[in-house]
Amino acid sequence: EENPADPVEENTRRQVEKAAFSYVLPKKTSNPKVLHVSEEMAKELHISSEETASEFFQDIVTGNQIYPDTKPYAMCYAGHQFGNWAGQLGDGRAINLFEVEHQNRNWKVQLKGAGETPYSRTADGLAVLRSSVREYLCSEAMFHLGVPTTRALSLSLSGDSVLRDMLYDGHPAYEKGAIVSRAAPSFLRFGSFEIFTAREDTKNLKNLVDYTIKHHFPHLNATSKENYIQFFKEVTERTLGMIIHWQRIGFVHGVMNTDNMSILGLTIDFGPYGWLEGFDFGWTPNTTDNQHKRYRYGNQPNIGLWNLYQLANALYPIIEEVAPLEAVLNQYKTDFESKSLQMMQSKLGFFSSDKKDIDLIQNLEDLLQLTETDMTIFFRNLSKFTEESSGLKLIEDAFYDLKNISIEIKSSWNLWFEKYAERLQKEPLSPKERTAKMNAVNPKYVLRNYMSQMAIDAADEGDYALIDELFQLLKQPYSEQPDKEKWFAKRPEWARDKAGCSMLSCSS
Ligand code: AMP
Ligand code: MG
Ligand code: MG
Repeated sequence: EENPADPVEENTRRQVEKAAFSYVLPKKTSNPKVLHVSEEMAKELHISSEETASEFFQDIVTGNQIYPDTKPYAMCYAGHQFGNWAGQLGDGRAINLFEVEHQNRNWKVQLKGAGETPYSRTADGLAVLRSSVREYLCSEAMFHLGVPTTRALSLSLSGDSVLRDMLYDGHPAYEKGAIVSRAAPSFLRFGSFEIFTAREDTKNLKNLVDYTIKHHFPHLNATSKENYIQFFKEVTERTLGMIIHWQRIGFVHGVMNTDNMSILGLTIDFGPYGWLEGFDFGWTPNTTDNQHKRYRYGNQPNIGLWNLYQLANALYPIIEEVAPLEAVLNQYKTDFESKSLQMMQSKLGFFSSDKKDIDLIQNLEDLLQLTETDMTIFFRNLSKFTEESSGLKLIEDAFYDLKNISIEIKSSWNLWFEKYAERLQKEPLSPKERTAKMNAVNPKYVLRNYMSQMAIDAADEGDYALIDELFQLLKQPYSEQPDKEKWFAKRPEWARDKAGCSMLSCSS
């Protein structure tokens, strides 16, 4: 908490010193309007659908009213951004409203885009409709995909305009302002720990670790060095688990800075994220990372490890031993190899293990990248493979340029399918059972970038039907939804290089 002598509940941007958080008040908006509510999330918070339809709810989730007897605040944290120490950052446009306890779960509820905080630095604390639609749809889609994630409760318009870009002629381009309310058991990040170590404030570092263990890792109870190491080990495991899920579904986070790494291993900060269309280890959706492609698909596991090194450094002052931290980090590398293999095996329908699987998978990854091949469609269709099928025919729909697939490439695929068929013979499952198990790990519907873009364009014109359609679709990403088949399709050509669609930057 900031020094009580300093102004509290004051949003002006300032250099906050020595505080872990600052009391703030969300900004009142001119014409708030709730566009969509996640009823699943509302239920978790014990909020009924009558309540979500009320004006009171709308006022709360747009920051126009403070829930009685609560004190909203913005958190201070630091971070490494794109590989460099960025110093103090903090919630520049997120405001914690309150906690909800329901069915033995504790949720923190935040607003994103509700105005300036002391940590806003040079920015406005606001969010625009397009980034809010993206965060809203994606958080809930990730949840239903079975990926650890922060959740979204509501998507609203503020009624105010927000300035983001200048047009080429120098005129300002205003966009509709929006606010997402979101929820998680904790919004603490690696950066929340780094800030205290940077300040050489071991006392508060220890306080925060003890707090985190008490509330989120209660089985570790006592606050001993062994438990701090165990805490780090569990954070490492959760982080790896989350990234393996990302790799499985082809999700590219786009901005894996340490201030965007949840201490609970939840996917957090849906900024310039994207889904792989063509399977490509080198792909990133983030236009500001276009040169080095630090946060590209194939590099996410390495970055997870790099970020954990920063967390290890942050925790060092209360552990004071290098070896056990290093052991945990080394274990990440081993676990990554085995978990990633297991994940790929499950995508291919191998539920036992074979020595040659590594080669078969490597071979497949090379083939997938030889010509543009849609990852989601490929794996989903692969589940229908039987010895009688022509593999190539089965996955034809996944190729972006079928006409130009050369004879050589076709024969490489045929060769691969021969080996695949051979390998499947070692599996005890019937084709039907295998299809079902593969379909449970290979989603049929993901939030392709062009899909959100279509929902955004319509919403900009005041039509919110597509937001709801995609929201409902993505509640069952692994199920066949015959009337929604149009969303099981390759990215249309118009969306290939469209700025602001396939390629995105941070902080809009
Ligand atoms: P991000 O790249 O979204 O993780 O943001 C990095 C930092 O910039 C965080 O401290 C954010 O709170 C802050 N930030 C991003 N966008 C805004 C904004 N529009 N207004 C104020 N702060 C922002
Ligand atoms: Mg962030
Ligand atoms: Mg962000």
